[in-house]
Amino acid sequence: MAVPKRKTSKKVRDQRRTHKKLHVPGMVECSNCGELTKPHHVCKSCGHYDGKEVVSK
Ligand SMILES: [Zn+2]
Repeated sequence: MAVPKRKTSKKVRDQRRTHKKLHVPGMVECSNCGELTKPHHVCKSCGHYDGKEVVSK
């Protein structure tokens, strides 16, 4: 069986699951207002999609 050659340092161990957790998966920033919205959906806060206003608020 494969055995690790060295003990994983505290730094490497603690880095393991930190990156990529900062942003919500399945959400993108609205190009108009910067609000987090679902991709390929009209923005809920400003009603924009693909740079155009689709739903007026
Ligand atoms: Zn928006």
